[in-house]
Amino acid sequence: MSAGGVARPVWARALPWPLSEMGEPVEALKTLFGEDLSIKQRGTAAVVYTPGTICHCLRCDHELETLLDHTPGFEEKNNLESTMRICSDCGDKRCAQGRNHQDLCDQDPFVKELKRELP
Ligand SMILES: [Zn+2]
Ligand SMILES: [Zn+2]
Repeated sequence: MSAGGVARPVWARALPWPLSEMGEPVEALKTLFGEDLSIKQRGTAAVVYTPGTICHCLRCDHELETLLDHTPGFEEKNNLESTMRICSDCGDKRCAQGRNHQDLCDQDPFVKELKRELP
Protein backbone atom coordinates (compact mmCIF):
# COMPACT_ATOMS: atom_id res chain seq x y z
CA MET A 1 0.00 0.00 0.00
CA SER A 2 1.47 3.36 -0.91
CA ALA A 3 1.26 6.15 1.66
CA GLY A 4 -0.38 8.40 -0.92
CA GLY A 5 -3.33 6.07 -1.23
CA VAL A 6 -4.34 6.24 2.41
CA ALA A 7 -7.36 8.35 3.33
CA ARG A 8 -6.89 10.91 6.09
CA PRO A 9 -9.66 11.76 8.56
CA VAL A 10 -10.13 15.51 8.10
CA TRP A 11 -13.40 16.42 9.72
CA ALA A 12 -15.94 14.89 12.06
CA ARG A 13 -19.17 15.68 13.72
CA ALA A 14 -21.17 13.95 16.39
CA LEU A 15 -24.25 12.10 15.22
CA PRO A 16 -27.05 12.67 14.52
CA TRP A 17 -26.17 14.67 11.43
CA PRO A 18 -29.45 15.67 9.76
CA LEU A 19 -29.36 15.60 5.96
CA SER A 20 -30.49 19.21 5.90
CA GLU A 21 -27.25 20.21 7.64
CA MET A 22 -24.89 18.12 5.52
CA GLY A 23 -24.71 20.17 2.33
CA GLU A 24 -22.70 23.17 3.41
CA PRO A 25 -19.79 21.54 5.28
CA VAL A 26 -19.53 18.70 2.76
CA GLU A 27 -19.36 21.13 -0.17
CA ALA A 28 -16.65 23.11 1.62
CA LEU A 29 -14.67 19.94 2.33
CA LYS A 30 -14.99 18.79 -1.29
CA THR A 31 -13.52 22.09 -2.40
CA LEU A 32 -10.58 21.51 -0.09
CA PHE A 33 -9.96 17.80 -0.51
CA GLY A 34 -11.62 16.67 -3.73
CA GLU A 35 -14.91 15.21 -4.92
CA ASP A 36 -14.20 11.66 -3.82
CA LEU A 37 -14.42 12.25 -0.09
CA SER A 38 -15.98 9.48 1.90
CA ILE A 39 -18.06 9.78 5.03
CA LYS A 40 -17.98 6.89 7.49
CA GLN A 41 -19.58 6.31 10.83
CA ARG A 42 -17.06 5.71 13.59
CA GLY A 43 -18.73 5.16 16.94
CA THR A 44 -21.25 7.97 17.37
CA ALA A 45 -19.52 10.34 14.97
CA ALA A 46 -19.56 10.82 11.22
CA VAL A 47 -16.00 11.11 9.96
CA VAL A 48 -15.06 12.70 6.65
CA TYR A 49 -12.03 11.13 4.96
CA THR A 50 -9.96 12.35 2.04
CA PRO A 51 -10.09 10.15 -1.09
CA GLY A 52 -8.22 6.86 -0.68
CA THR A 53 -8.23 3.68 1.35
CA ILE A 54 -9.35 4.06 4.94
CA CYS A 55 -6.64 2.60 7.13
CA HIS A 56 -7.00 1.28 10.67
CA CYS A 57 -3.37 1.16 11.69
CA LEU A 58 -2.46 2.51 15.13
CA ARG A 59 -1.13 5.73 13.63
CA CYS A 60 -4.28 6.43 11.61
CA ASP A 61 -6.56 5.55 14.52
CA HIS A 62 -4.56 7.89 16.72
CA GLU A 63 -5.05 10.65 14.16
CA LEU A 64 -8.77 9.92 14.19
CA GLU A 65 -8.88 9.97 18.00
CA THR A 66 -7.18 13.37 18.00
CA LEU A 67 -9.74 14.65 15.53
CA LEU A 68 -12.62 13.29 17.60
CA ASP A 69 -11.14 14.84 20.73
CA HIS A 70 -11.82 18.18 19.09
CA THR A 71 -15.28 17.27 17.84
CA PRO A 72 -18.01 19.01 19.87
CA GLY A 73 -20.52 16.59 21.34
CA PHE A 74 -18.47 13.45 20.74
CA GLU A 75 -17.68 11.70 23.99
CA GLU A 76 -17.88 7.99 23.38
CA LYS A 77 -14.26 7.36 22.64
CA ASN A 78 -14.54 3.78 23.81
CA ASN A 79 -16.60 2.94 20.76
CA LEU A 80 -13.47 3.19 18.67
CA GLU A 81 -11.92 0.26 20.48
CA SER A 82 -14.22 -2.07 18.58
CA THR A 83 -12.02 -1.51 15.54
CA MET A 84 -9.07 -3.87 15.64
CA ARG A 85 -5.79 -2.37 14.64
CA ILE A 86 -4.66 -4.89 12.13
CA CYS A 87 -2.39 -5.03 9.15
CA SER A 88 -4.43 -4.61 5.97
CA ASP A 89 -2.15 -7.05 4.14
CA CYS A 90 -1.76 -10.03 6.47
CA GLY A 91 -4.51 -9.33 9.02
CA ASP A 92 -2.16 -9.76 11.99
CA LYS A 93 -2.50 -7.16 14.71
CA ARG A 94 1.11 -7.67 15.80
CA CYS A 95 2.40 -6.83 12.34
CA ALA A 96 4.50 -3.66 12.02
CA GLN A 97 2.16 -2.39 9.32
CA GLY A 98 -0.72 -2.63 11.80
CA ARG A 99 1.01 0.06 13.87
CA ASN A 100 1.93 2.30 10.96
CA HIS A 101 0.85 1.80 7.37
CA GLN A 102 4.15 3.25 6.19
CA ASP A 103 5.98 0.25 7.60
CA LEU A 104 6.29 -2.89 5.55
CA CYS A 105 4.12 -5.87 6.37
CA ASP A 106 5.91 -8.55 8.42
CA GLN A 107 4.83 -11.03 5.76
CA ASP A 108 6.43 -9.00 3.00
CA PRO A 109 9.06 -11.11 1.20
CA PHE A 110 11.63 -8.34 1.67
CA VAL A 111 11.05 -8.20 5.44
CA LYS A 112 11.21 -12.00 5.70
CA GLU A 113 14.49 -11.98 3.85
CA LEU A 114 15.90 -9.33 6.20
CA LYS A 115 14.89 -11.35 9.24
CA ARG A 116 16.59 -14.44 7.88
CA GLU A 117 19.81 -12.51 7.55
CA LEU A 118 19.76 -11.28 11.15
CA PRO A 119 21.94 -13.31 13.52
ZN1 LIG B 1 -2.60 3.85 8.60
ZN1 LIG C 1 1.16 -7.56 7.83
